[in-house]
Amino acid sequence: MIPFNKPYVTGKEISYIKEVIASEKIASNGKFMAKCEHFFMERYGFKLALLTTSCTTALEMAALLIDIKPGDEIIVPSYTYVSTSNVFEKLGGKVVFIDANVEFPNIDPEKIEGLITDNTKAIVPMHYAGVSCDMKRIMEIAVRHQLYVIEDAAMSIDNTYESNYIGSLGHFAAFSFHETKNISCGEGGLLVVNDPKFIERAEILRDKGTNRKLFLKGAVDKYEWVDIGGSFAPNEITAAYLFSQLEKLDFIQKKRLEIWKTYTSEFENIKSSIVEIPKIPAHSKSNGHGFFIVCNSKEIRDSLIAFMAKKDIQITFHYQALHQSKYYLEHNQAISLPNAEHFSNGLVRFPLYTDLQIQNVKQICGELREFLRKFSM
Ligand SMILES: *Cc1c(COP(=O)(O)O)cnc(C)c1O
Repeated sequence: MIPFNKPYVTGKEISYIKEVIASEKIASNGKFMAKCEHFFMERYGFKLALLTTSCTTALEMAALLIDIKPGDEIIVPSYTYVSTSNVFEKLGGKVVFIDANVEFPNIDPEKIEGLITDNTKAIVPMHYAGVSCDMKRIMEIAVRHQLYVIEDAAMSIDNTYESNYIGSLGHFAAFSFHETKNISCGEGGLLVVNDPKFIERAEILRDKGTNRKLFLKGAVDKYEWVDIGGSFAPNEITAAYLFSQLEKLDFIQKKRLEIWKTYTSEFENIKSSIVEIPKIPAHSKSNGHGFFIVCNSKEIRDSLIAFMAKKDIQITFHYQALHQSKYYLEHNQAISLPNAEHFSNGLVRFPLYTDLQIQNVKQICGELREFLRKFSM
């Protein structure tokens, strides 16, 4: 059986975790957390990188930092994971869904301005499969209308928009280290703060609304309750696991990109009128997060999934467009976003993980060819 995903194990996890246990410091704010955060700031030039318990909590922190209040509107893709939207909804914000591009699931920046009102506070571009949205256009619109940009970079580790790293252009960015992402620690995330005016408050918010960080640095003589906040920092065991993955990041990325390139080149020879591979925009590239195709209809997609399952290959659909979700429809009028709906019905993702063998990728593509042959007969 070829699974859709398999978490990669570097072999160093256990020894680092043993080190943490022996240190008798297993809560947050330890040595491995500092090492991970330093790694991200150093390698990607992020102003501040804060480990969090998930990408969802990193997005939640960004929403708290920009003070989302009832009545505020936030422009969010419909084709995304629930968290991109839910963290704003939870604070009483009104999510305004934007459609995807025709060619690729990222948001279409040309549709942003039509959705901006006096209440709009932020735009949340999500970089699908790790491929960057058109950040130049998005930032230009955001600056003109004085909006915050929070990048949902959950899948986008180690990738670029033109010559900038993903996560370095928005006011904030949130990454995920869930077991399905390129590097993982089971559940984990990262909040990037690029706007210096939020740096001090971000650290307070992560630490239950206290100024403990300043206390630890010796800047204040006692620590106390100074703001709202939550318990958003992971423990040191999680950070140790994550650090072992960061040390192997280049290796992981190389392997994943090899797999992605094999899929892509195998696909170049597949001519089909019922499936297509979305074109990666020129301003970005793949970071080997995922390989996916889009079927013309839900029926074709479902029969492809069933066909592959019979061959012991697990392929999987992705997001339900959020404007068609139960929650949204219980609280709002139905709207139509044709491109998001198209990806919601037709998109299917293929196995891609660090240990996947190239020969398996070729086998999968062979099965796909067989499916397409049978289907068009
Ligand atoms: C995985 C993912 C998330 C959620 O990440 P967690 O770390 O599980 O909270 C959010 N947004 C997108 C686009 C994702 O792919």
